[in-house]
Amino acid sequence: MKITDIRATTVAVPLEAPLLHSNGAHWGRFVRTIVEVEADNGLVGLGEMGGGGQSAEDAFRALAPYLEGHDPFELEALRFKIANPTASLYNNRTQMLAAIEFACLDLVGKHLGVPVHDLLGGRVRDSVPFASYLFYRYPGADGRTPEVRTPEQLVAHARDLKERHGFTVHKLKGGVFPPAYELECYKALAEAFPGDRLRYDPNAVLSLDEGLRFAKAIEHLNNDYLEDPVWGLEGLRLVRERTPTPLATNTVVVNFEQLATNVLHRSVDVVLLDTTFWGGIRACVKAAGICDTFQLGVSVHSSGELGIQLATMLHLGAVLPNLTYAADAHYHHLAGDVIEGGPFQYADGRIAVPSGPGLGVTLDRDKVAEYAELYRELGGYPYDRDPGRPGWYPLVPNERWADPETPLAAL
Ligand SMILES: [Mg+2]
Repeated sequence: MKITDIRATTVAVPLEAPLLHSNGAHWGRFVRTIVEVEADNGLVGLGEMGGGGQSAEDAFRALAPYLEGHDPFELEALRFKIANPTASLYNNRTQMLAAIEFACLDLVGKHLGVPVHDLLGGRVRDSVPFASYLFYRYPGADGRTPEVRTPEQLVAHARDLKERHGFTVHKLKGGVFPPAYELECYKALAEAFPGDRLRYDPNAVLSLDEGLRFAKAIEHLNNDYLEDPVWGLEGLRLVRERTPTPLATNTVVVNFEQLATNVLHRSVDVVLLDTTFWGGIRACVKAAGICDTFQLGVSVHSSGELGIQLATMLHLGAVLPNLTYAADAHYHHLAGDVIEGGPFQYADGRIAVPSGPGLGVTLDRDKVAEYAELYRELGGYPYDRDPGRPGWYPLVPNERWADPETPLAAL
C-alpha cells in the first residue's frame, strides 16, 4: 500500500453555546481540519486537527511530496520523515504528524479489516468512561441553551448532563471568575453529587498562593485530581508538596522530555494524554507505558474534537490497562458532527469503542459540505479572546477575572 494523495478540508461545527475558559472562549463553534490520506488501493484514511483555514490546508498539501509513495504501515519512519525531533525545532509539525498518523492507522486497519485498537495491542475494555466537562458559558444562539455562571446554574447544567449521558465524574473548567467564586461553584457540585467524583481545571492561571488555597479548601472532597492549578513544572511541584490531592497536567508534560523530567522530579501524579499534542495515538500508548512503570496515573485529554478525533481517543482509551480516570471530551457540547450515523452516543457516562475496520468512522459527505460552507461563512475565531470582553486578555497568573455578578448575555 502506498500513499498517493492528501486532502484537507476546514469545517466549522456549531457548539450548543459559546464556552468560556481562562484564555478566552470557544466562540460557539469548533473549527477543525479534516484530513484525508488516499492510498493506491483506493482506500482513504481519516485524520483531524484543531484549527483550520487556508494556511492549515496549504500546510497539509505541502506534505504531499513527503508522503507520496510512503507505505502507511511504516509509522515509525513517518515520524522521522515529517517530524524529526531536531527538524521540528524549525517546522513544528507534531500536530500535523498526529493527523497523518490517525489517517495511516485508519488505512492500515481498513486494509487488514481490523479496528485500530487491534493494531495497538488489543482492547482491554469495550467502552471508555468520560467526565461531564462543565464550562461556564454564554447562552446559546438558539435561545434554548441558558447561561452557566452561578453555582445554581452550574449544578443544574451538571444534573442535565448526568441525566442525559450518565456521567458520574464532573470536571469544572475554571480560570474565568475569581478563584474564591469558582471554589464555591466546585463545592456546590460536591454537595449536589455526593457520590460522584470531581476535578477542577483553571488552565494554570492561579498564582501559587491561590493554587495552594484552592487545593487546601478541596482536600476533603471526592477529587479525582486538581488539574494545572498553576503554571509550570516547578509551580505544580510546589503545590503538590503541600496537598494530598493528586495533581494532573495537560500543559507541561506533553512530550517525552517533559515526561522524563516529571519522572525524575515529580510535579504531577497524572498525565493527561492528548492524541494530537503528543503526535499520535501510538506516542500516547508509549507514554502510558512509561507512566505505568513509574506509577503515574493517566487519562485521555480533550483539546476539542469531532468524531474522527474522538475515535482516536476511544481507541487509545480502549488499549490502556492503566486508564484509571475517566476521559475528557468537549464532544457533548457539539450540535453536530461530520461522521455517518453521528454523533457518538453516551450510555452510563461511557462511549462504546468503535469495532469497524480502522478508526471505525466514515465521513458524512453532506455534513462535511455543510460545515465547510459554515466555515466559509463564519471563518475562524481567536481562541484567546473572549467575544464578551473586547480588548481583554489574561495574565498568568491572572488577576483580570470576569465579574460573576454580571449575567452572560447572548452574543
Ligand atoms: Mg486542562
